[in-house]
Amino acid sequence: MPGYAPLTDDRLWLPRGTTHAAPRPGGEFVLYWMQVTHRAHDNFALNHAIEQANTLGVPVLVYHGLRHDYPWASDRLHTFILQGVRDLVAAFAARGIQYAFYLDDRDPGETGERPSPLVALAERAALVVTDWFPTFIMPRQLKALRERVGVPVVAVDSALVIPAKRLTKSYSAARWIRPDLMGPLGDWLLPIETVEPEVRRPIDLPFAVTEPGEDIAALVAACDIDHDVPPARGWTGGTRAAQARLDWWLEHGLPRYLERNDPNVDVTSRMSPWLHFGHVSVHEVLLAAREAGPAEPWKKFLDETLTWRELAFNFCRFQPKHRTVEAIPDWARTELADHEDDPREAIYSDEQLERGETDDELWNACQQAYLRDGWMHNYLRMLWGKSVIGWTENAARALRILEHLNNKYALDGRDPNSYGGILWCFGRFDRPFFRRPIYGTVRYMSTNAARKKFDVPAYIRSMA
Ligand SMILES: Cc1cc2nc3c(=O)[nH]c(=O)nc-3n(C[C@H](O)[C@H](O)[C@H](O)COP(=O)(O)OP(=O)(O)OC[C@H]3O[C@@H](n4cnc5c(N)ncnc54)[C@H](O)[C@@H]3O)c2cc1C
Repeated sequence: MPGYAPLTDDRLWLPRGTTHAAPRPGGEFVLYWMQVTHRAHDNFALNHAIEQANTLGVPVLVYHGLRHDYPWASDRLHTFILQGVRDLVAAFAARGIQYAFYLDDRDPGETGERPSPLVALAERAALVVTDWFPTFIMPRQLKALRERVGVPVVAVDSALVIPAKRLTKSYSAARWIRPDLMGPLGDWLLPIETVEPEVRRPIDLPFAVTEPGEDIAALVAACDIDHDVPPARGWTGGTRAAQARLDWWLEHGLPRYLERNDPNVDVTSRMSPWLHFGHVSVHEVLLAAREAGPAEPWKKFLDETLTWRELAFNFCRFQPKHRTVEAIPDWARTELADHEDDPREAIYSDEQLERGETDDELWNACQQAYLRDGWMHNYLRMLWGKSVIGWTENAARALRILEHLNNKYALDGRDPNSYGGILWCFGRFDRPFFRRPIYGTVRYMSTNAARKKFDVPAYIRSMA
């Protein structure tokens, strides 16, 4: 009987055309390059790195770099990440594993390339292990490192319950992927083992590590990033904050989870930012929710967290152009194109949308949720996205502005779920509905309909 979630080859992503990553002889250590799984527990990539290091009789080194130039880098994202790093420093110290965090805090005026700490370490390693992630900068960073260094680089899927590789095709709707996820769930939704290193020896680093303490605001201020997006109100990054929220939600939110479509009640888990940065594992969230029950809310929560989340990863994996209109299903793209000339009530500029200055008070309140809190309720995200289609000249512009606003302001942005959610507004994973202006047969959602579902004025007041 399996006791732990298996770390099989299904989780390993090797360079195309290879079946085995032969470690480089003489390598000093196995390097785990932490990109999106910011945790020292429940981490298949870390476990794989440690297992390989144990086999080779060398230590494992965890390298985690925070650049200044990733898209949408801001005080908000840097703060959340650095709060997570604070927990990582403590968690790795407790496990006796060397964790080297590098903060790129170059001055805005600095020109020229700095030597890459990652490349310098990779060149001394026997093997590099990193996180698999099908969107944002990760696929191209992985490719770039593979092209630059002579050491094998293995990406490991720690993001999903059912490894992405097990699903060999792209799914067009939740109802098709659901049985393929739910069927084998018993084999995969199990606790994740903690693998311990057998060799521990300090490794000399070619850079000074940063260990954030109470000085996170000062560290962030020194970075050459967007200082106009402030830290998100009411959110703290890191494993400890995630687990505290999870504990609270299991007791107070989960039992009422069936009320999840009402944005005025705090019954959804709000795990998405921590899941995005990997501060918690989807396994621990689901196992804790299953344990806490009750049955009906748990079933609904499982469907969101397993079916919809893993559908979004599947989508990004099989559709590399998920940032473009090509990711809109053909029928919906045709419908939207056919209705491009339909008159709009208003066409708003990018700035009006970004500042939440439309004539729709509810939409402005939703945009406030992103601007101020860095998080928005699911029902409102759907309405928010659909409305922008009605206020822009065409799908391409609507998609571009939605991606920008979502990824710039949402803590959980830049995720497969960001693209799954945004593209859903354009008909992805959905079916045709009754034809209407602008949207054609793409499903329409209105703020008027929202008034029948929840107390809209109360929500607007809460965002005022
Ligand atoms: C336009 C639009 C943009 C979106 N942008 C993002 C985004 O940037 N990042 C993001 O994580 N989600 C995004 N979503 C999906 C969804 O709104 C959020 O995942 C959810 O609101 C997060 O809140 P929660 O953690 O309280 O969810 P819960 O209801 O507690 O669900 C638990 C987890 O299940 C997953 N989940 C829930 N609903 C969905 C969904 N519809 N699709 C995929 N996974 C889901 C999330 O990982 C979530 O944390 C977007 C949806 C839309 C319509």
